Amino acid sequence: MAEHLTHFYEKFQPSHYNIYLDINRESKHFSGTSTITGEAKTSSISVHQKFLTIESVTVDGNDVPFKTDNDNEAIHIDLPKTGEVTLAIKFSAKLTDTMMGIYPSYYEVDGVKKQIIGTQFETTAARQAFPCVDEPEAKATFDLAIKYDEHEGETIISNMPEVKTENGVHYFDTTMRMSSYLIAFGFGELQSKETTTKSGVKVGVFATKAHKADELDFALDIAKRSIEFYEDFYQTPYPLPHSWQLALPDFSAGAMENWGLVTYREAYLLLDPKNTSFEMKQLVATVIAHELAHQWFGDLVTMKWWDDLWLNESFANMMEYVAIDAIEPDWHIWEVFQTSDVPAALQRDATDGVQSVHVQVENPAEIDSIFDAAIVYAKGARMLVMARALVGDEALHKGLKNYFTAHKFHNATGADLWSALGDASGIDVGSIMNSWLEQPGYPVVTAKVENGNLTLSQHQFFIGDGKDAGRKWQIPLNSNYDVVPEIMSDKTLTIGNYDELRQSTGKPFFLNVGNNSHFIIQYDETLMKDILDHVNDLDAISQLQILQDLRLLADGRKNSYANIVPLLPRFADSHSNIVNAALYRAANNLKKFVTPKSPEEKALKELFDKLSSAQLDRLGFAPKAGESNDDQLTRPYILSAGLYAENADAMASAHSLFKENENHLADLSADVRVFVLRNEVKNFGSQALFDKLLDAYRKTSDASYKQDICAALTSTTDPKLIAELVGKFEEADTIKPQDLRAWFRGVLANDDGQQAAWDWIRNDWQWLEDTVGGDMEFATYITVISSVFHTPQRLEEFKSFFEPKIPTPGLTREIKMDISVIDSRVQLVQDEKDAVNEAVSKTVK
Ligand SMILES: [Zn+2]
Repeated sequence: MAEHLTHFYEKFQPSHYNIYLDINRESKHFSGTSTITGEAKTSSISVHQKFLTIESVTVDGNDVPFKTDNDNEAIHIDLPKTGEVTLAIKFSAKLTDTMMGIYPSYYEVDGVKKQIIGTQFETTAARQAFPCVDEPEAKATFDLAIKYDEHEGETIISNMPEVKTENGVHYFDTTMRMSSYLIAFGFGELQSKETTTKSGVKVGVFATKAHKADELDFALDIAKRSIEFYEDFYQTPYPLPHSWQLALPDFSAGAMENWGLVTYREAYLLLDPKNTSFEMKQLVATVIAHELAHQWFGDLVTMKWWDDLWLNESFANMMEYVAIDAIEPDWHIWEVFQTSDVPAALQRDATDGVQSVHVQVENPAEIDSIFDAAIVYAKGARMLVMARALVGDEALHKGLKNYFTAHKFHNATGADLWSALGDASGIDVGSIMNSWLEQPGYPVVTAKVENGNLTLSQHQFFIGDGKDAGRKWQIPLNSNYDVVPEIMSDKTLTIGNYDELRQSTGKPFFLNVGNNSHFIIQYDETLMKDILDHVNDLDAISQLQILQDLRLLADGRKNSYANIVPLLPRFADSHSNIVNAALYRAANNLKKFVTPKSPEEKALKELFDKLSSAQLDRLGFAPKAGESNDDQLTRPYILSAGLYAENADAMASAHSLFKENENHLADLSADVRVFVLRNEVKNFGSQALFDKLLDAYRKTSDASYKQDICAALTSTTDPKLIAELVGKFEEADTIKPQDLRAWFRGVLANDDGQQAAWDWIRNDWQWLEDTVGGDMEFATYITVISSVFHTPQRLEEFKSFFEPKIPTPGLTREIKMDISVIDSRVQLVQDEKDAVNEAVSKTVK
């Protein structure tokens, strides 16, 4: 429908809520009253509700007529007057297992099934918990009072501290002025650990008692130090008395920044301090730092409407790295940005039809669909990294302080941020950034020597078909040649006589030093040869960048994978984890060119052996005490390559580690456990091992161990076990819906399991939609499929299943993009298969 939807806030502006909830877990039912004081601009107003039964509505104590409108998730109310009114709405509803609104999380302690209640309101699910004007601009203060079927030893927490308990009702202190989507509470049998920041903010970590107490320690330390860092960096105090972090056993997203009560997937908060990989610790730390960055950016100052979601997410995504880099400088956390966010953004943003970072949205399904992690998070963060580099940290601090002072407890738009940063720095940040914010895609800059002159030109880069709309970007070039201007605004740019420049600088020409601007570079033969001749003089980030850009150019058909293959061995002995990350990302991309169990696959495995065997000897299978972070982070790439190559030493080491630890597999070092288990399942698998691992999966509370078991079991080659596994997909007692996508992806990416997984999702799509269709992760099941498929047959099957679903709200863009993604991959494989396989066999000779 083209009709303009009026925001409810335009007609009714709440200032204060009194919310009373009575929640019964036993009967899976809750009821309550939402009393809202606010300013009515017209006599006919609307308030949001979803899945609620509305029992009565009074205005200033008198019953008034109302109409429940489920299609628009609303209650329409006729008021006797405009101006200040107090509405009281009585309602009741069911508790459902959708991981949205108020919902139960299930877990077991010593074989006893238990549950805790938690909430997830972003984006539009506060209306499932109580009637409210559920729009970010509708900020108000909230008094929460909650009663539940409480047993001895249970705890309830919320955004604010509890002030009193009366007749079993828990009353919480009045909140600051805030948006409804940030309200949260949780209750049940919880354990916690608490500490206090230098400035007196109480920090706590809460979890079920299924976890060992020391699993809370890491998070508590990171949360405390992150808040201390932000208070300093933002020059603005943490605005609330406490910052609670709560781990929920069932959780759809990664974590949620509810103000003062952040909720997390258990895997992203709790960890065994004695046996967790460094990589996992880095991930958990960045998730915590991300959510705490939001306590200011998102919570204290909130986007006016969801089109500016990027203001929240792009910023928090950048700040998670800024914060962890400050509190753990030895981790070199920006390297994680370079190996995860950067390639994700560059890949996704190259597909025609991708959304821009700033995107117009109206209805709830659309709002959920804009949480594209590669764009709103990763590309947006990359955009802000560019902005940070332009203005410098001093102006950033000053600009942010002014931004928070001007907008705290209120809302802001992107323009407000640019003007704050622009005022602080004297640079017109907005006009530079708008080319990145408002336009989808990014440029490839072609650098060549033409008639003796070094020249640059920019064009939009596409993987797959793309319509050139003549877009231009303001590109921070960051060249290592001083004569190159800071910003490229035009289509083309002539730098000067190349031979003279080369001679006076004494080094190969390079753009985007540091890989912090969102573009890639195609150097002509002269320039590329010069770079490759000096590749060993390049720092790790520049080496990563060479591999990254060549790989993307090959995906975009501006280069051939056959040209990349002979270059790979040059990087194979690098001790840098980020070079290895880029190397194996490129190498793994070759797998799509070979048919399972063919001579070509055998040759490819030889190439992997050639790349990894010397490093395997150097690093060994077991982590060494006191080894460098780089070695720890490099080992997984090498083991993965060695096992794919069927390297005899690697397989024997993995098998003997398994045998030595057979009776206590969880104690295998988390750095290598997944490789040991996967090797065992793949090469020495049996029903007994399968049963044993699945049982361990059900029983362990260690999320890392769970992930390792999932990766191992989904790699089985036994058709009977694959069928058994797919049969477990809908058994929530074994595989929680929050974890299903990883299992599905594992089986789908397994050559021997693909058919079964593909059949399952097509046959049981309705079940999937009923189970996880209500949340923003749903569309990513389709993304997962598109990341795996690469044959014409699968493309046809994908189209015939998903094309009819294109009109589904929230799926439209995803399906269209994914058809293009698979189609371009199928073309690439068909066109280049022979040349690539020939290059592989030449390189291994
Ligand atoms: Zn976020």
